[in-house]
Amino acid sequence: MDFNRKNSGNIVYYTAPTLDASGLCVHAFSTRFGGVSQGIFETMNLSFSRGDDPDAVRENHERMTKLLGVSFDRIVSGKQVHNCRIRVVRENDFGIADGYDGMVTNVSGKVLLTHHADCAPVFLLDPVKKAIGLAHSGWRGTAKGIAARTVESMQDEYVSDPDDLIAAIGPRIGQCCFETRDDVPTEMCASLGEWTDKYCLPFGEKFKVDIGGIIAETLMRAGVKRENICISTACTCCGADFFSHRRQGASRGSMAAFFALK
Ligand SMILES: [Zn+2]
Repeated sequence: MDFNRKNSGNIVYYTAPTLDASGLCVHAFSTRFGGVSQGIFETMNLSFSRGDDPDAVRENHERMTKLLGVSFDRIVSGKQVHNCRIRVVRENDFGIADGYDGMVTNVSGKVLLTHHADCAPVFLLDPVKKAIGLAHSGWRGTAKGIAARTVESMQDEYVSDPDDLIAAIGPRIGQCCFETRDDVPTEMCASLGEWTDKYCLPFGEKFKVDIGGIIAETLMRAGVKRENICISTACTCCGADFFSHRRQGASRGSMAAFFALK
């Protein structure tokens, strides 16, 4: 199942129909559209650390949180380091979770936020124990199994049963555009196993790597049911909706994934 592309006024965003249907959470993956930033950040930049006008970035966050019906003041934002550490977010946590690429919480209204510009957002909902997890899964984090680490954190903290989990892998750089040297397939194979080879297609001297496929199989190997995994087919690199590190380098804004329990 794919994500849906939605509009609200000028704001364009993506959601997973399975998470929407649960009625238990709100979530979105933002795009370039619907904000007030200018120049290379035009228009919905959600990063305060890329040189954009902070007032504009704040307004962009306000627009997204208003859209979702959540509070700007209750955002906990991962400061991502392409690792696989998972932060357990509690009522008194606010602001930036420095050094964490993944977060889990069971606190209603607490907004988990991760930044993206090609790396995959991985949403996990436990509809039984009423808990959520959100991970930023770039290729390094994917190789470190961050999606599985997030499932394990939910098992440890909330006694989640992986059978119950609803997973959604959002827009990210697609296999169409993620051309790599052999370092990426080598790291995937060394870290996760030979099964990853089928997601790394030879392309001349290089490879084209399906990060979404690797994340989905990582989740299945962690016990998540295949039918409970929704995967976006949107590519952030060749899709016009997105900022892309691969396409634009450092001269760009950032998208964000938002996820909160109702
Ligand atoms: Zn592409």
